[in-house]
Parts: sequence; structure tokens; C-alpha cells
Amino acid sequence: MTTSTDPVTTTRTMLAVDGLTVGYAGAPVLDGLVLDIAPGAVVALLGANGAGKTTLLRSISGLVAPRSGTILLDGQDLTGISVEDRARRGLAQVPEGRSVVAELTVEENLHLGALWKIPGRRARRTAVAELYDQFEPLARRRRSLGHQLSGGERQMLALARALVARPRVLLLDEPSLGLAPRVVAQLMTTLRDTAQRTGLTVLLAEQNVTSALSIADRGVVLGLGEVVADAPAAAIAADPALRHAYLGF
Ligand code: ATP
Repeated sequence: MTTSTDPVTTTRTMLAVDGLTVGYAGAPVLDGLVLDIAPGAVVALLGANGAGKTTLLRSISGLVAPRSGTILLDGQDLTGISVEDRARRGLAQVPEGRSVVAELTVEENLHLGALWKIPGRRARRTAVAELYDQFEPLARRRRSLGHQLSGGERQMLALARALVARPRVLLLDEPSLGLAPRVVAQLMTTLRDTAQRTGLTVLLAEQNVTSALSIADRGVVLGLGEVVADAPAAAIAADPALRHAYLGF
């Protein structure tokens, strides 16, 4: 396994996964997985269909209970911590499927995202206004209902709604799925800019390897229940044997 190089020179780890074993029935999907992510790093989580990317994200956010192993968020053990409390501590997950509330406007969806985390209507309005600076297409559609948005706009709204609560770590599951290449490029650029500006740590699970690596500092490849490669994004992109063995192209 190649060793990693994070862009941020620090000994601190924002997310530390150690010996994580997770399964549903029968053989584990993740088997003793180890992964460290530095604060502010954008990490592309790659692997073939069924490699366990979603399972890893759901284990971190607390939606799936591991059989064994530990997950630390900024040094704090998350074992036994509920999904809600993990979110309060700074974890946000955008699941596959870009779900937004179809009968609410863009603005109402964003306020909903801020409601439980930011006390006070004025503070919430400020947080939403700040987001519009980053997500201009959403600002233009602020009065539109969720069901009136295009797929790309809905994905952008799902992302923005997670960010309005100002998480420290964002877990994103296949945001590019079903979107046109131009829309994917815009989404990835927005994500990279946001991470750079705010110091957000991102774990981005993607089948769209090229897009994910284009904005990531690091690529982590899952295979056979563990991390089979962990290296700078450019090194993963330039490794044909790895791509062929684990990424299917
Ligand atoms: P994809 O890229 O296709 O979304 P993935 O890498 O995200 O795949 P997972 O969705 O984590 O992989 O699935 C890993 C394995 O666990 C697969 O074999 C899948 O069928 C199985 N699995 C996932 N969720 C469940 C569940 N709720 N119950 C039983 N098995 C599951």
C-alpha cells in the first residue's frame, strides 16, 4: 500500500478510522479498515460497485453499527454516539439520491438545514445569505420549489443544505450520479472552492473516478473490505494497474 501525503502540515487527524469491521449478514463488507484524514483534506473514496463506500460513510455518520473498530472525530471516540449527536459534533452526510423537500422552496430547504444547528432567525438568515454567495445558481432559484429544480440544482441544494449547518466533516455519497458532465464539473468546483475557503474536511465517495480525483488531494481505494491504495490523487489517477484491478477501467 502506498502511503499518503496530506496537504495540511499537521499531526492532527480530523477523522481516524481504526480496525473497522462492518457487515450485514455473512462475511464482513469492511474488514479491519484503517483510514486517517487530516483537517481540511478532500479525499476521494473509490472502489468498484459493492466495495463498501456507502457502508463506510454510513458507519462514520452512525447509520450502520460496526461489529468492531473505532472512529474518532477530531480525537473524540464516536462509539455509542447517536446519529444526531454525531451531527451536532460536526459530521454531515449527503446521501446518494439528492433528496430535498419537494414542496418547499430552495430558501425554505436551506432554512430547514440551519434550523436545528443555528439558534436565532437572524443568524440563520445570515448563514443562508452567505451560502448564496457560494451557490449562485441557488440564489437565482431561491423562490423555486424543490420539485421544480433540475437534477443538478437539486444536488447543489442537498449539498448546500448540509453545509448551512457548518459541519467540520462532510460525507458525500456519489453526488455525480445521473448528472451531465458539465453539471458534475460545476458541482465539483463548488465543492473544492468551499473546502478551500472554509477548511472543511471532505470524504467523497464516487464512481466517477476522474471527477473525484480532479478535486481531491488524496485518493483512497477500497477493495476486499480494506484500503488497497491510499495516495495523492495524481498518483492514483496515473496508476493503470490499480485502475484496472479495482476501478474497472
Ligand atoms: P456502490 O458504488 O454500488 O454504491 P458501494 O461501494 O457503496 O457500492 P455498499 O453500498 O457499501 O458498496 O455495499 C457493500 C456491500 O454490502 C454490497 O455487497 C451490498 O450488497 C451490501 N449491502 C449494502 N447495504 C446493505 C444492507 N442494508 N443489507 C444487506 N446488504 C447490504
